[in-house]
Amino acid sequence: MTENDKIICPHCNHAMSKWASPGESTWGEGIHFVCFNDECPYYKRGWEWMKEKYNVNASYRHHYNPETNASNPIPVWDENALRSKIIE
Ligand SMILES: [Zn+2]
Repeated sequence: MTENDKIICPHCNHAMSKWASPGESTWGEGIHFVCFNDECPYYKRGWEWMKEKYNVNASYRHHYNPETNASNPIPVWDENALRSKIIE
C-alpha cells in the first residue's frame, strides 16, 4: 500500500480518513481508516438505530483496520467525536 492509496467507504463511496487508533482494547494500535463523511448513510442511520436499540444519542462510523483487514463500526457520541485522531 502506498501513501496515495485511498480507502473508499462502501456505504458512501467517499475516501476514508487515516485515523490513529488509540490502541485500546479491541482496536489494536496503528493506522486505521474511518469514514468521517457526515452524509454517510451508515452513520446517519446509526443515530436512529442506537436510539431505538439502546436509547442513547450516539451513532457509529464505518471503520477499517488494514492490519486485520476487518471492517467494524466505531461508536461516536457526536459529529466531532474521534476527529482529533485524524491524520492528515
Ligand atoms: Zn461512509
